[in-house]
Amino acid sequence: MPAPLEVLHRVFGYAGFRGDQGAIIDRVVGGGDAVVLMPTGGGKSLCYQIPALVRQGTGVVISPLIALMQDQVDALAALGVRAAFLNSTQNPDERRLVEQELLAGELDLLYLAPERLKLESARELFDRAPIALFAIDEAHCVSQWGHDFRPDYLGLSVLHERWPTVPRIALTATATAATRHEIVERLELQGAQQFVSSFDRPNIQYRIEPKNQPLAQLLQLIRTEHPGDAGIVYCLSRASVEKTADALVAEGIPALPYHAGLDAGVRARNQARFLREDGIVMVATIAFGMGIDKPDVRFVAHLDLPKSVEGYYQETGRAGRDGLPSTAWLAYGLQDVVQQRRMIQESEGDAAYKRRASQHLDAMLALCETVECRRVQLLNYFGQASEPCGNCDTCLAPPEAWDGTVPAQKLLSTIVRLQRERNQRFGAGHLIDILLGRDTERIRQQRHDELRTYGIGGELGEQEWRGVVRQLLAQGLLAVNTDGYGTLVITEASASVLDGSRTVSLRREPERVAKQKKRSAG
Ligand code: ADP
Ligand code: ZN
Repeated sequence: MPAPLEVLHRVFGYAGFRGDQGAIIDRVVGGGDAVVLMPTGGGKSLCYQIPALVRQGTGVVISPLIALMQDQVDALAALGVRAAFLNSTQNPDERRLVEQELLAGELDLLYLAPERLKLESARELFDRAPIALFAIDEAHCVSQWGHDFRPDYLGLSVLHERWPTVPRIALTATATAATRHEIVERLELQGAQQFVSSFDRPNIQYRIEPKNQPLAQLLQLIRTEHPGDAGIVYCLSRASVEKTADALVAEGIPALPYHAGLDAGVRARNQARFLREDGIVMVATIAFGMGIDKPDVRFVAHLDLPKSVEGYYQETGRAGRDGLPSTAWLAYGLQDVVQQRRMIQESEGDAAYKRRASQHLDAMLALCETVECRRVQLLNYFGQASEPCGNCDTCLAPPEAWDGTVPAQKLLSTIVRLQRERNQRFGAGHLIDILLGRDTERIRQQRHDELRTYGIGGELGEQEWRGVVRQLLAQGLLAVNTDGYGTLVITEASASVLDGSRTVSLRREPERVAKQKKRSAG
């Protein structure tokens, strides 16, 4: 057997192992199971590629990323590694050829789509072939509560049942303690050694700001801090992807769209240009990015609120894989909160699903509204303690907390009055018009200028009021009604604010953090 370090030098041309790589590889080479949590860009691939080259037989890599298998195989072939894949994009002849190579012991690595393991024919194939190890990539896909659930991953317990002597290594960049626990349970990895790397990405500067004019804010970010840099801009919908990409192009920025509604050829072409050319800005839905290895992505911008901290961490993690200073920037506003709460309510999922989705969203909102270090909050979510980082917006320009109890009472009592006295419900815009004492047609029509709370909110401006509404929604002191119109209603917790027994602490939006001194990489 060749030594792992020798394979690292000879095949991959690297000087040494990073972090836990060496220990993980020793474990798997020795025939033991491993669960590996490593952030994106941490170097997970070598953890199964090297044992596959060292051990007798073929390393079988189960991956949901069918679209990337060809690229992965090509990249390995360029290093002289004998790799192939089996998935639904191939015709029977192509598959047969790969199966023959496998049986003849001519493959170092075989990438496999998880659904193939459901086929008895595929299982029989692995009974007959020499298998060095099973690697389960993107192992968090086994979690039914996670954001990337793939039902076929549940069937992967077959690996242990059918081939108990073959070592298994499960890898993910996304795992809270709960997800890790689920991976261990569902894949029957109780005997596995767990390797948990630090999830900190010190070269990424985290920033989250209120969304006012998203496109102008994005342009400012690109022009003042990242001119000519490669970046990814995430949007929630296909329509906003198209619109944003067009708008950037119109401003002279080389942007390309990417979403599942585009023709496969266009998608592949745009992805290839992003990888090969310098300074392309990819505007995409979250369909883009998993498994993309582009080291010099200098910024990841979110124009809409991610649904979970896991998603946010994974998406922002695509910035700065080369270790150089990079920006993770998110603009979010009141409408994001209303929309996402509504999407959860209207989803097909059962009560348990909706509860979990709400918890995911609440954690994301807590990250957005924190007055503390974003990194501390983020790492804490993954169960890792840390010190304030000096390289996030709240560290660079600490936001003030202010006592928002009185404005909250004004808003909540307006909602209560409209509900009790007139059986009416409204969205944020109209409620703010009432508080500001505005003279709109709707106000006149509804005679809302006769309400006791009309015009009592002059101490704050429109934007500040929107911030109050957003933060009350985030804190659960206000809720989106289930009528599907995004109207606002009070919650059980609102009562204690209204009767004065609870104070409300809000975050004052600081001046925009831009061009601040960044902490050096490393
Ligand atoms: P992950 O799958 O964890 O996101 P990858 O396996 O794609 O990360 O590795 C990220 C990058 O780091 C790749 O370009 C890879 O070649 C490089 N890399 C991994 N391990 C090492 C190492 N020991 N020395 C140098 N470069 C490494
Ligand atoms: Zn910080």
